[in-house]
Amino acid sequence: MIFFDIDTQIDFMVPSGALYVPGAESVQATIGQLLELAGRKGVATISTRCAHTPDDVEFSMFPPHCIEGSPGAARLFAALPLLKRHEIGADAEAKEGAQILPGTHYVVSKRVFDLFSNQWLAGLREAGAFRDEECVIFGVATDYCVRACVLGLAAAGARLLIVTDAIAGVAPATTNEALSEFRAMGVGMTTAAELITRLTD
Ligand SMILES: [Zn+2]
Repeated sequence: MIFFDIDTQIDFMVPSGALYVPGAESVQATIGQLLELAGRKGVATISTRCAHTPDDVEFSMFPPHCIEGSPGAARLFAALPLLKRHEIGADAEAKEGAQILPGTHYVVSKRVFDLFSNQWLAGLREAGAFRDEECVIFGVATDYCVRACVLGLAAAGARLLIVTDAIAGVAPATTNEALSEFRAMGVGMTTAAELITRLTD
């Protein structure tokens, strides 16, 4: 099992953030619980984060956010999960033999909303690291980065589980469309409480 903690950064998660995702504040606590669970149970976790430069192309699509080095780019739960941590830079290259190890936290930076724009992560995917792996996805935004994660992992043959009370979307219409799309793809849906019970019993 691998947790995908998508873009849970100050600029998206906190109402005063540069690109606040409506409703994100109400899932903060749940996301914190999942990250604590990962630490307690040694679940490999990939936390993605936008790490932009002021002139990144993504700012033609979205307002400026998560400028690397600014407070808004920091992860909301910067200290979680309590696991051995690896930082993967936005410019990291695909690495032969790379793998996702249990009990390890990978913080993967990116300059485009699709996490697989990070070549280290794309390389792992191409090498089959996520094939048949149960991937549990939460974070923001349902209709953009979470969706890119779902589509990218589905194409890689992963088994997907969305934590429905630990996600939030930018706009209701596109968020509902994304959720319908996930269901049509056969993506599993769970709640944080169900997952915590399952991993704790
Ligand atoms: Zn971004």
